[in-house]
Amino acid sequence: MGSVNGHGKQPLFSFGLISDVQYADILDGRSFLGVPRYYRHSILVLQRAVKEWNNHQKHKFVINFGDIVDGYCPKDQSLNTVKKIVNEFEMFNGPVHHLIGNHCLYNLPRSELLPLFKIKSLQGHAYYDFSPVSDYRFVVLDGYDISAIGWPQDHPRTLEALKFLREKNPNEDKNNPTGLIGLERRFLMFNGGIGKEQMEWFNGVLQDATKLKQKVVVCCHLPLHPGASSKEALLWNYEEVMNLIHRFNCVKVCISGHDHKGGYYIDSHGVHHRVLEAALECPPGTNAFGYADVYDDRISLYGTDRMRSTHIYFDPNADF
Ligand SMILES: [Zn+2]
Repeated sequence: MGSVNGHGKQPLFSFGLISDVQYADILDGRSFLGVPRYYRHSILVLQRAVKEWNNHQKHKFVINFGDIVDGYCPKDQSLNTVKKIVNEFEMFNGPVHHLIGNHCLYNLPRSELLPLFKIKSLQGHAYYDFSPVSDYRFVVLDGYDISAIGWPQDHPRTLEALKFLREKNPNEDKNNPTGLIGLERRFLMFNGGIGKEQMEWFNGVLQDATKLKQKVVVCCHLPLHPGASSKEALLWNYEEVMNLIHRFNCVKVCISGHDHKGGYYIDSHGVHHRVLEAALECPPGTNAFGYADVYDDRISLYGTDRMRSTHIYFDPNADF
C-alpha cells in the first residue's frame, strides 16, 4: 500500500484541532454580520471530532483554539457549561491543550477558568509551551494578557487595557469599530494584547528553540496577521509579536481561531498563518474540525467539511 498522503513517509506525529465551539443551550442566532450561529449543534461537532480523533488512534494531543462556551450562555449556567465542554474534550484519549478565548472569559474569570483547563500558571497567565517531539516546539500565547475582560475590574491589566481602548477607540461601546480606519479596526474590547513579560518569555522560548534547532508552531486565539484575518479580529499588538517572530527563523506556522470564517496566508518572511473555521458556524449535520500530520519539512492539515485542508510547506531556504 502506498502512503495515503502521497508523500511517501510517515509523519513525525499528528494532532487534532478545533476552534470556537462556543456552545450554549440557547436558540440559534446570528453574528453581528448576520452569519448563522448554531449554539446547540456545536457540542455535536465537538463530540464527532473527539470520536474521529480517537478512531485515528495515533494523535499525540489535541489543541482547542479557544471560545468553548458562548458569551450568551446564561451566567448561572456558565460554570456547569464550561465543565460540560471540558468533559467532552477529556473524552479524547490523550492530552488536550486549551487556549482561552474572549467567550470563555465572558463566562468565567481566569481564576476559575485556568484550573478547569488545567493550565498551570502562577499569576493567572495562560501562556505556555510544550515539545511533543525533540524537533518541534509549540508555543501557546495568551492574547488576553492585556485585556478588559477576564481579570478583576481593578486589576492593573484591566486598567491598562481600558486606558488603551480609550486612547484608540472613540466610541462609547468599545466593541464598536465605527470611525476606526483600516487596521485600527482591531482596537475593540473583545480583542486583547500581549504584555511585556509575556513578550520577554516568548523571546526566551524562541532563542531556546533556535539553539535546539526546533521548528516552532505558535498558537494564539487571536490571529497574528491581517493577511489571514479580518482586521476586527487581530491581536492589538500583532505587529510587535510578528516583528519578534521575524527576528528568528524557527517559527513556521501561526495557528489561530476567533475569526470564524477562517483564513490562510504566507507572510513576507515565509511564516504561514492559518486561522481555523469555527465549529459554531456549522449548519446541523456538518463539521469543522481536523487533524494535522507533522513532518520535518511540512505540516498537512486535514479538515472536515467547513474546515479547509491546508498543506503547509516550509521554506527550504530558511536557515536550518
Ligand atoms: Zn474569540
